[in-house]
Amino acid sequence: MKTSHALTQSVATLTGVGTHTVGRLRKLGIHVVQDLIFHLPLRYEDRTHVHAIGALTAGMTALICGKVELVDVLSKGRKSLICRVSDGTGFMTLKFFHFSADQHNIFKTGTWLSCFAEVRHGYAGLEMVHPEYRVIASPDSYIPENRLTPVYPLTEGLSQATLRKVMKQALNQVELLQDWIPDSILQRYQYPSLLEAIHTLHAPDESVSMLALQNGSLPALKRLAFEELLSHYLSLKKAKVAAKVWQAPSFSSPMLASSKEHFLRSLPFTLTGAQQRVIGEIEADCMSAQPMMRLVQGDVGSGKTVVSAYAALLALTAGYQVAVMAPTELLAEQHYRNFSAWFGGFQTQVLYLTGQLKGKARAATLQALADGSAGIIVGTHALFQDSVQFHKLGLIIIDEQHRFGVHQRMALRDKGQQAGLRPHQLVMTATPIPRTLAMLQYSDLDISIIDELPPNRKPIVTSVIPAERRDDVIARINHWVAKKRQGYWVCTLIEESEVLQCEAAEKTAELLIEALPDVRIALIHGRMKSAEKDAIMQAFKHHELDLLVATTVIEVGVDVPNSGLMIIENPERLGLSQLHQLRGRVGRGADDSYCLLMYQSPLSDTARQRLGILRDSNDGFVIAEKDLQLRGPGDVMGTRQTGQIHFKVADLARDADLLDIIQQVGEQFLIDSPHAIQPLCDRWLGASTDYAEV
Ligand code: ADP
Ligand code: MG
Repeated sequence: MKTSHALTQSVATLTGVGTHTVGRLRKLGIHVVQDLIFHLPLRYEDRTHVHAIGALTAGMTALICGKVELVDVLSKGRKSLICRVSDGTGFMTLKFFHFSADQHNIFKTGTWLSCFAEVRHGYAGLEMVHPEYRVIASPDSYIPENRLTPVYPLTEGLSQATLRKVMKQALNQVELLQDWIPDSILQRYQYPSLLEAIHTLHAPDESVSMLALQNGSLPALKRLAFEELLSHYLSLKKAKVAAKVWQAPSFSSPMLASSKEHFLRSLPFTLTGAQQRVIGEIEADCMSAQPMMRLVQGDVGSGKTVVSAYAALLALTAGYQVAVMAPTELLAEQHYRNFSAWFGGFQTQVLYLTGQLKGKARAATLQALADGSAGIIVGTHALFQDSVQFHKLGLIIIDEQHRFGVHQRMALRDKGQQAGLRPHQLVMTATPIPRTLAMLQYSDLDISIIDELPPNRKPIVTSVIPAERRDDVIARINHWVAKKRQGYWVCTLIEESEVLQCEAAEKTAELLIEALPDVRIALIHGRMKSAEKDAIMQAFKHHELDLLVATTVIEVGVDVPNSGLMIIENPERLGLSQLHQLRGRVGRGADDSYCLLMYQSPLSDTARQRLGILRDSNDGFVIAEKDLQLRGPGDVMGTRQTGQIHFKVADLARDADLLDIIQQVGEQFLIDSPHAIQPLCDRWLGASTDYAEV
């Protein structure tokens, strides 16, 4: 008797699958029999109709039947076997560069052949090169196939024929698959059953439209994409539910009221309505004894830092420590400065830890964390090394989440865990991920959105100009600096090479220093020592410098309100969201600010359109939505930014409508079918499921 076990057995148990094939299949992410079933065709070939030769045009891939009229071996040039066939409507030349004497004998005049190949233009009309062919009795008795032929994604060393053979065996087990999607959902969205969907996609019959297969509108495809996206959603939700069984410290304290009042009074501004709302959400979380897992999403400049500082205030007042983690040293330093200033009046130390800190200073910092004399530690990844021990960690703040993957986020949380208590977690991101995508990426987190900028911000005026106008731009800097304002000049480079990027920035800085003798210019890039960067940033902040030439290291966090001009070289090389982040370094005060996108001509149509989006909008969400339409979600989120989600069937741009459906049914599914979650995750997330384990 077959059991569903057969589906989870290694592909090595299938006939004709040796170690080599196992290895090749593994490269395609196929380990067990079930993985094969979900390895869907890339495209299909149509052998279901015999085409009249006279109706063919070059470029078509077609099945024909023809009678051999002439056979010849040409030895001029490359030796080839030529066979001319006709079906009464036209002639087709079959061409073989590799052939045997046997073949020569088969192609006898008067023999009927069926042939399948792409049609090309040849010297003597249409031709097929190395077609698939078969000798047939007559065109009338010939029965074409009744299903489209699947063409599967392959990997080196694996042939279509081998894969089809192995696939056939896997598909024999297909009825063992359990359909976890309840009938009510299938009916509501008019999805086929799982088996029907699988059959349709591996062997579509004539009634299936090739177009619907290609554009993804076929219900069979939609159903599988739905199931896959639902599985990703459920895996994160499961993590969220499981996290609720943990206890967290409650930050309630008799000192809270006076502490809050003191903090808010010491700020040089009043909080926006959106900031106040989000602070309220955070406070409610932190007063409960369950770990907060909250994402604060807010456009650049919306004031997320002070919101996170408020959370830190709650922890400190209740006697807990706070870890603030940033993805870059520059940003960590900036937070360190901010937190030091805000919590200067508290009876605690604010410390700073990065990989650069060594020796005695490092030991002293670690000691202060372990004995609790430091209440706040700000740093980079270095914070979560084994040697870092906390006395009483109550809150983890992670800034610019998009730089860290889901896995990393979970690893961090585990580090902070002690005595059965888990710290609260606050994640801040400026990446304007469209709501639908956020649902897939962050469904284990509660989301707060700061959808309001501080008052009196003038919108940044953005222009798109060709690099030929560099001299004008340089003149403009002179003019700008004469008005006592500051600016950034950002160098980008197509390669992901930091070294090359820094070299380019060095060169640009030299040229600008020469061209602008009256402007105080400094260079800042990722390969400089942290003390050096710090000194330059301080000098810039105190207006001892006018222009910073920088690499994209200033993408995140830098905050100098007087710096209101940004020139971005080769903006066409960056994603729109990244450009928006960069641009967010200006427009931080009440004065005018400008961003000049200085592109290299010629610009492609799409690039021109994309830069136009940026010129016309200052709203990160609008930009991300438009970018999504233009480029698709993979690019918008960027692999670097997502912690990589790979889909087998789903395509987020094509299947965006499904995200709404999942939002509607996901929550209920979790309640109605808890037993289905693990098997669905096994089916669709396979080896990567462990990230959602708690
Ligand atoms: P981001 O959300 O991009 O991290 P920041 O927290 O760096 O933004 O804040 C941007 C700037 O706005 C900072 O100079 C900050 O001090 C200031 N700011 C924050 N909140 C307010 C507010 N309510 N009113 C005025 N300025 C504010
Ligand atoms: Mg920030």
